[in-house]
Amino acid sequence: MSRPSSPATGPSSEPDATPGSDASDPFLDGAGFFPGLPPGYDDRSDRSAVVVGGAMAGLAAAHALRRVGYDVTLAERQSYAEKRVNCGEAITDTSLLPLEKTAQNGFPCATSAFEVRIRNGDETASVSFPSARGYVADRNVVERQWARRLAEDGVAVREETSIPRSEFEDLLDEHDLVVDATGQPSLASRAAGTTDEYAGAMTAINADVEGDFAELYPRALILFEGYLGYAWCFPKSETRANVGIGWAQEDLPEDFMAAFAAACGRNGWPVPPREAANVAIIPRGPSLDPRRTYDRRGVVRVGDAAGIANRFTGKGISQAIHSSYLMAALAAHDRLPEYPRRLHGTMRPEYVLSYIVRGTLEDGRLDLLRGIMEAVDGIDVERVDRDPREALSRLARRPVLCGRLLACPAIRRRTIRALRDDWEYIGREPDSTSERISTESLGEALPVFGGRK
Ligand SMILES: Cc1cc2nc3c(=O)[nH]c(=O)nc-3n(C[C@H](O)[C@H](O)[C@H](O)COP(=O)(O)OP(=O)(O)OC[C@H]3O[C@@H](n4cnc5c(N)ncnc54)[C@H](O)[C@@H]3O)c2cc1C
Repeated sequence: MSRPSSPATGPSSEPDATPGSDASDPFLDGAGFFPGLPPGYDDRSDRSAVVVGGAMAGLAAAHALRRVGYDVTLAERQSYAEKRVNCGEAITDTSLLPLEKTAQNGFPCATSAFEVRIRNGDETASVSFPSARGYVADRNVVERQWARRLAEDGVAVREETSIPRSEFEDLLDEHDLVVDATGQPSLASRAAGTTDEYAGAMTAINADVEGDFAELYPRALILFEGYLGYAWCFPKSETRANVGIGWAQEDLPEDFMAAFAAACGRNGWPVPPREAANVAIIPRGPSLDPRRTYDRRGVVRVGDAAGIANRFTGKGISQAIHSSYLMAALAAHDRLPEYPRRLHGTMRPEYVLSYIVRGTLEDGRLDLLRGIMEAVDGIDVERVDRDPREALSRLARRPVLCGRLLACPAIRRRTIRALRDDWEYIGREPDSTSERISTESLGEALPVFGGRK
């Protein structure tokens, strides 16, 4: 396997400023809510890592591990030339990607804001979340371009390479580190026959369609219409958009395509042909016991494989990249056993807020959902999820709304459960190779890799 000519050797090393990249490196220097690689790490060019799964989490893991010197192989089962991605393709923090934000790199629309509409009977309320770093992407192009960059940086990119379940464990004999970035349920759990270790998910169907989106473009739209889920229209241009709809498992329609077509019809979007529509699941974070995200033999899970997508919005790209950068930063400092605790620590506020807010949908309380949305109106879309402190302090300044929320028994129950880390997976014992840490210590504040802003 070829080694790169100039691996990163320490905190003073300069990232490449190649034509297709931004000048600074989001992993080394920090971007969004990732604080950057802390100084004082050792060059890891004597170690090898294999990353299985080459979508957002895997690409970010390969990028970051390569930056600290690892000899990296990336195995992706699809071909990047033909890759299909099941996604709304809204990347709400593109600063995390080391690519210039051009249409050629897969970033056709710099989305100015995410508009949220709540239809409650005859009433429609509308709020707007500005988006400083958000794009609606052609995600297949983004992934192709990122993989190309990685190959230029010396990563051995093996596309059309599916690692079978039976060979997953063998990777541990060949590499110091095995990164599982295969989505949910992950290859690690498929290999162990424990795919049921993931709790819950949303199911979504979507398609890229041609039509007239001039009125909405360059804004994106999310619609709550009374069922346990939502629909979206994310324009890529005035004439092209990613449209879709998702439901919680408890409220799945009998015929996904018919329900999708009905949503398109009532919202004036073109109905895609059945063969153009993708159906996929979105994990509801935390859908996996955090202790299972790393085992001492050297297998670490990132992105959807770690079960961390947002439980309310279903958004998981910036979370996936964040988890990979955090993992690589810890690997650089020889502190990977801390990964489960630190990942959970950075995700926990998001889990808590999204769980409580989702309760309004589960209880059919669109009036409360509207109250919450109006309270947080105007906060950057990425910040609402990834750093909910401002959202929570806005809510705290609305005592009437807080009173109404707390008067709702289901919301009270959810708040208590979330604050106690009482998620669906609690009660399952991690296997003997997982780090044993107490549930109470999972969310503690951590000095070195704490939040960025
Ligand atoms: C319909 C839908 C809409 C969504 N919309 C958004 C959105 O707009 N914005 C957002 O932020 N998030 C969205 N999400 C969530 C987001 O898509 C995921 O959180 C994100 O894709 C997670 O990335 P990942 O790299 O961890 O996993 P995945 O995207 O699932 O990628 C896993 C990769 O592993 C590969 N792979 C799997 N098994 C193997 C194997 N055995 N060997 C080799 N390779 C393998 C797969 O081919 C794939 O490339 C959406 C999800 C869905 C389902």
